Amino acid sequence: MQPFELITVSTISEAIQAQVASPTAQQGAPIRFIAGGTNLVDYMKLNVETPRQLIDINMLPLDRIEPGPDGSLRIGALARNTDVAYHETVKAQYPVLSEAILSGASTQLRNMATTAGNLLQKTRCVYYRDTAYGCNKREPGTGCSAIGGHNRMLAILGTSDKCIASNPSDQNVALAALEATIHITGSKGERAVPIADFYTLPGNTPQRETILEAGDLVTHLTIPALPTGAKSVYLKLRDRASYEFALASAAIVLKQSNGRIDFVRVALGGVGAKPWRSLEAERSLLGKPANAISFRAAAEAALHGAHPQSQNGFKIELAKRCIVHALTQATTNA
Ligand SMILES: Cc1cc2nc3c(=O)[nH]c(=O)nc-3n(C[C@H](O)[C@H](O)[C@H](O)COP(=O)(O)OP(=O)(O)OC[C@H]3O[C@@H](n4cnc5c(N)ncnc54)[C@H](O)[C@@H]3O)c2cc1C
Ligand code: SF4
Repeated sequence: MQPFELITVSTISEAIQAQVASPTAQQGAPIRFIAGGTNLVDYMKLNVETPRQLIDINMLPLDRIEPGPDGSLRIGALARNTDVAYHETVKAQYPVLSEAILSGASTQLRNMATTAGNLLQKTRCVYYRDTAYGCNKREPGTGCSAIGGHNRMLAILGTSDKCIASNPSDQNVALAALEATIHITGSKGERAVPIADFYTLPGNTPQRETILEAGDLVTHLTIPALPTGAKSVYLKLRDRASYEFALASAAIVLKQSNGRIDFVRVALGGVGAKPWRSLEAERSLLGKPANAISFRAAAEAALHGAHPQSQNGFKIELAKRCIVHALTQATTNA
């Protein structure tokens, strides 16, 4: 790990100024916000991240979880994963989010990990984590060692010939299905970005993963109210039952009326270069009866454009079955 300077800030404007005005940043050297540190410090130990300055944002007043006036829920960027997962409103109204968070990492990690840190966690691609190998995401232009290499865990949707990394987060899949909005404050003011527009696909620039600019601080998320009677479910399939990232996962939000599906959102994890909302699956399900035939058709639609690599072709069928099982759970006793 390289030496770094730790800067503690106590207001949002101090945090942004520290990023923008930092001589380190102006010289093009990396400078990072640090929240729980469970992702960033890992990568610093591996010399994948080498910030000269760390801005500790833990003193900022951004850890509240509170209802909005319109029935939405506001979750502060520094709300710990554990606090979100066990929050009464989250458990009652957005169980998909609670289940997704609790399916990830370990109790100790979730106690430290924050909402925004989870949103921005880096891929677990083994070559990204090992500076001995070429990796376009870590060092643009050095190639993608995973193409033709160890790619069993990596993405089959939204990849490019420059990068096939998967987004590792569970939380983010649930947030995609819940149509969360990310609230950002930067040197140019505040803005709100729907999660569908927050992540970028690798294309020719895999080093860029989100629309965030230097100095942008995520302050909170908002999640809109769901229609009355909507059920939500998160199902994660992985190599072992705990402390493991998803091979495939599905977040479902669904409501039925008169035996037909009249509201549905489907998002996938473990298979996409970003948290993968499947509008194709949703279109396939709307208006259909909640049965095995509709579910399988939706799963086929969701994986239609999948592009497997040498070791992860199994994810296509696995993800389809994951969708079918999650839809079955979401419609049982509905
Ligand atoms: C062994 C292990 C197993 C894990 N298993 C899973 C799993 O199964 N599923 C899963 O989803 N996750 C898993 N995780 C990942 C874990 O969820 C993340 O490490 C955690 O959510 C990151 O949150 P943090 O607050 O610690 O982020 P940090 O490490 O502090 O930060 C991560 C990134 O976010 C940036 N950042 C943080 N806050 C802000 C902000 N407010 N504005 C702008 N930028 C910000 C930082 O600069 C950094 O780039 C695992 C982690 C470990 C170590
Ligand atoms: S998949 Fe992406 S992160 Fe992994 S080696 Fe290739 S470029 Fe790097």
